[in-house]
Amino acid sequence: MTSPPEESGAGWRATARAWADREVRPRAVAIDRDDRIPPELIRSLAASQFTAMGLPREHGGVSVSSADLCAVLEELAAASAAVAVTLAVHLSVCAAPVARWGTSDQQARWLPSLARGERIGAFGLTEPGAGSDTAALRTRYDRSTEGFVLQGSKTFISNAATAGLLVIFATRDPALGSKGISAFLVPGGTPGFSVSQRFDKLGLRGSETVELRLDGVRLPTNALLGAEGAGLQVALGALEGGRVGIASCALGVARAAFETMREAVRADPIDWKRTLLARAWVELAAARTLVDDAARQRDAGVPFAIPASAAKLVASRAAVSIASAGVDVAGPEGTLAGQPAGRLLRDARVFPIVEGTTEIQELILARRLLEADGPRTA
Ligand SMILES: Cc1cc2nc3c(=O)[nH]c(=O)nc-3n(C[C@H](O)[C@H](O)[C@H](O)COP(=O)(O)OP(=O)(O)OC[C@H]3O[C@@H](n4cnc5c(N)ncnc54)[C@H](O)[C@@H]3O)c2cc1C
Repeated sequence: MTSPPEESGAGWRATARAWADREVRPRAVAIDRDDRIPPELIRSLAASQFTAMGLPREHGGVSVSSADLCAVLEELAAASAAVAVTLAVHLSVCAAPVARWGTSDQQARWLPSLARGERIGAFGLTEPGAGSDTAALRTRYDRSTEGFVLQGSKTFISNAATAGLLVIFATRDPALGSKGISAFLVPGGTPGFSVSQRFDKLGLRGSETVELRLDGVRLPTNALLGAEGAGLQVALGALEGGRVGIASCALGVARAAFETMREAVRADPIDWKRTLLARAWVELAAARTLVDDAARQRDAGVPFAIPASAAKLVASRAAVSIASAGVDVAGPEGTLAGQPAGRLLRDARVFPIVEGTTEIQELILARRLLEADGPRTA
């Protein structure tokens, strides 16, 4: 077990790097090959308090800045993107929304076990036919005498097969559009909840991604997270924070790809490889600046939607571009199973899709840029 920074005196980044070097890096190839994170690794993640980061202290959390959280996710992703994304989803789009929108009873009930990592969190928004267009979701809820009944399906949901708690979005009536959507806290294993498919993915293997069925899932009244009809605000608010985390994960993959490439270029420093290395460095530096910006604005308590989308867009693009150049530099060996260059490219390729695609980040940015009080350029 790694001592938490508060006890060891080390910073969060150094602690995460040491933990990742010891616990994750030696297992990264197996996690990718077997498409599975060993449960003992999740227990070790929790024992090092990473699962409690940013959650309220009174419910077992440890206070960290957004900059520290980004540094931890980057360090973990540089060793295994799957481990970092599992943690990012748990914290940013499950535990953080409970902390932000939950009643004091909901916080007291759910946050301690999430902080201890006894429950891993998931976020269920996407449905077949409702990804980028979140308001088009079809999973329904009806009121019952005890609370609510959910009926429908969700797809491409991370962490969901083993999750102890899921934030699930459903509509009272699809005709109501965004105003009909509410968020619900659904404990894993609730009767009527089942996993219908586990996806065998290109990248982020080990981060489980599944399709869910919700067949008459009965929930009590206190399962409603936030106000009834305010589900889309909960989802979009969670995703705004989530994007900074996913950008940090992409940055970690971009950095790992850069370092892998640098080793290969050192061994064979011919001009075309040196040029690719220089380009990769510039892309990495630009991504880091935007991730740092997003974290700084979040820590300052000012709106951070613009840097969050910009960071997510640029860091995921940098990860793909650097990892792709890394395969060129590695040559045929880079395409072999078990070699880092190919794994990094496969992992990188998923980042432009998750938590809002690149095109959706561009639309978010364009909307904000066109507002009367849009950001200044100088
Ligand atoms: C590994 C993985 C993990 C995931 N984990 C989760 C999770 O935990 N929870 C969850 O809820 N979801 C999750 N998702 C789903 C993910 O958020 C969606 O895949 C994503 O939002 C895109 O939705 P879609 O797949 O339906 O694509 P679509 O929305 O159908 O988009 C298809 C393409 O069209 C483009 N497009 C769509 N609308 C527009 C537009 N208006 N203008 C321009 N271009 C547009 C998109 O950018 C994309 O390139 C995950 C996905 C993956 C791959």
